[in-house]
Amino acid sequence: MPPLQFEEESWQSTRVQLACFASGCATVMISVAKFISMFLSKSTGLRSRIESIFAVVVGYVLADFLTGIVHWAIDNYGDPKHPVSGPQIEAIQCHHQQPWILAKRHVATNIYIQGVVATLLFSPVNMFCEDLNLLAFTSVFACCGFFSQQFHAWAHTPRRKLPPVVVVLQDSGIILGPSHHAGHHQPPFDRRYCIVSGFCDWFLDKSNFFVGIEVVLFHMLGVEPVSWGTKSLL
Ligand SMILES: [Zn+2]
Ligand SMILES: [Zn+2]
Repeated sequence: MPPLQFEEESWQSTRVQLACFASGCATVMISVAKFISMFLSKSTGLRSRIESIFAVVVGYVLADFLTGIVHWAIDNYGDPKHPVSGPQIEAIQCHHQQPWILAKRHVATNIYIQGVVATLLFSPVNMFCEDLNLLAFTSVFACCGFFSQQFHAWAHTPRRKLPPVVVVLQDSGIILGPSHHAGHHQPPFDRRYCIVSGFCDWFLDKSNFFVGIEVVLFHMLGVEPVSWGTKSLL
């Protein structure tokens, strides 16, 4: 695969990207606000609150897991020439050659597609859901999923350029840390795909979860993942 090129203009956000980003921000903020409001309501009992905290943890872990699945799929099977998702796929694959680019791009450029997805998926939940546990799950899941690529960008940003709160979140392991994610950019380039916290990487990598799926897909479809020849990403 020839080296992918990134146009410098693509670092800036277009108005459409900014609008999608704003829509995603509004959606996840409403979701979190609605959950907190119900959580703190006097009519919510202690048992319901404890259950909702469990739902928060599930949403957080599942978001990390799913970012790993999506990242692995795009890295290994994404087509940068796809008419709809091609530019995003190219951006992610190009990121392996030039990891610093994510940190250079405006946040809206990095996550505007996630903004569209978050709006479409979670606006109905915000409008109609009155279940505390479901709101607990969706608010954290939506928030982490929406911002995951920005967590990834921060993992490539020099610490001195990060807001202190981001450094604290990285150091505490709540969001993806640079030292953990560095393993994704080192040989054999086939691990540490999760980009919310990286928590799920330890069992996905230890169990060879992705290698197993790659072998099954190869036998079923005859398609090799990029990571087998790998170094084409370099
Ligand atoms: Zn990758
Ligand atoms: Zn990276």
